[in-house]
Amino acid sequence: MDTFITETDTLNTVKQSHEMLSVGTALEEILRRVNCLNAEEVSILEAAGRVLRESIKSSHDVPSFDNSAMDGYAVRSEDTLHSTRDKPSRLKIVEEIPAGASPRFRLGRDEAAAIMTGACVPEGADSVVMVEDTRRDGDSVFIEKPIEKNDNVRERGQDVKAGETVLPEGMFLTPSCAGMLAELGRTSCLVTRRPKVSIIVTGDEVFEPGDDLPTHGIRNANGYSLLAGVAETGSIPVYLGIARDNKEELRERLETAFQLSDMVVTSGGVSVGKYDWVKEILSGLGEIVFQTVRMQPGKPTVFGMRDNKPFFGLPGNPVSCVVVFEQLVRPAIIKMCGRADIERPIVTARLKKEIKKKPEMTAFVRGKLTRENDTLFVTATGPQGSGILKSLVVADGLIIIPEDKVSLPGGTEVQVKLLSSNWPCAALMAASTSPEGVPAWRK
Ligand code: AMP
Ligand code: MG
Repeated sequence: MDTFITETDTLNTVKQSHEMLSVGTALEEILRRVNCLNAEEVSILEAAGRVLRESIKSSHDVPSFDNSAMDGYAVRSEDTLHSTRDKPSRLKIVEEIPAGASPRFRLGRDEAAAIMTGACVPEGADSVVMVEDTRRDGDSVFIEKPIEKNDNVRERGQDVKAGETVLPEGMFLTPSCAGMLAELGRTSCLVTRRPKVSIIVTGDEVFEPGDDLPTHGIRNANGYSLLAGVAETGSIPVYLGIARDNKEELRERLETAFQLSDMVVTSGGVSVGKYDWVKEILSGLGEIVFQTVRMQPGKPTVFGMRDNKPFFGLPGNPVSCVVVFEQLVRPAIIKMCGRADIERPIVTARLKKEIKKKPEMTAFVRGKLTRENDTLFVTATGPQGSGILKSLVVADGLIIIPEDKVSLPGGTEVQVKLLSSNWPCAALMAASTSPEGVPAWRK
């Protein structure tokens, strides 16, 4: 009991006022202090999933020559003007142009060139008749209907014009961006460095899967939720294992973490228990900005800074740990990466059943989305205790219930923050049901 009193006193002298912040304010406080990391040059093999830190202009037109969109015959459209099934135009085939080859001839009147998809359209030709619309007879081809000028021709510069900025600075690079970089002849580009995020799990009772488990021990779930959560952002998780509830061990492990990484995240030991040392140690290492948030689950959450490096002390309960990671830690990591989509998408859905909650706390209720006709519904996934990880496993998102509400009846429209990045379809479903027809994305 003495230890508990001492710990509280210590904290109160370290920082005079540690009011309980709303979730919104907590996130603002975090994002205000967290900055985008510096840039590094990487191979285009590593570019996808990163944020571009230079503007990519094209030095040339793409495609760089008019080429065929079809396998068929390059022709002069005027020669096909009067073609019909009964009176097809007969054109003389002067050459065959495979993809990658250079045409040898300029097409003259009533001439055609057999051409493959992607091959250069010869001078004189202005269109390509697809092979399915022709009949061949030796050196001649019969065209049975007129073709319009430019049909089946991909014009030079159709995709990208020389001098055009194709990938602007700050863009999040998707797989097709990697393809575009290659198309422009780039082998590398400048992107934000991947943040290294240290993870330390605390608790005398916590054991790794695979290790012997004492009768009253528990398995370390949080370490692995956090490792995967960090990895999903494209950052580098640095796993420092389980620190026992002992000040020296914890301090040492935290010192190592700050040396090795750009951000430190711990699990457990931030509440008011006798062996909850994390806050005390962190306050000795850096500045604590807040240590409680008006959120449920996740109230005992510590955030602070040490030498420009953010640290988070997350609660030990497995659901609280993930919910706080999603709500506060992930946005910080995303900002460090330089991404603009700080938060995951939020969709609007209707509650299937009433939800009750404590007053003055923002509740994050694990919810399952379903679609009925044109409406997106959400239902709580069962008991919401912060130790019930299974109800998070089956959830599609977190239903956000604002501080001022204590009960929301079935049918109420609520915001649901999607949990995984595999839900673009859900977002689209929501867009189609929103009254204004506008997706309920939140910045
Ligand atoms: P604490 O915040 O350390 O008091 O932990 C709160 C609850 O979460 C306790 O029941 C712990 O046993 C549990 N817990 C702490 N760390 C972990 C972990 N890594 N994985 C699963 N449960 C944990
Ligand atoms: Mg503990």
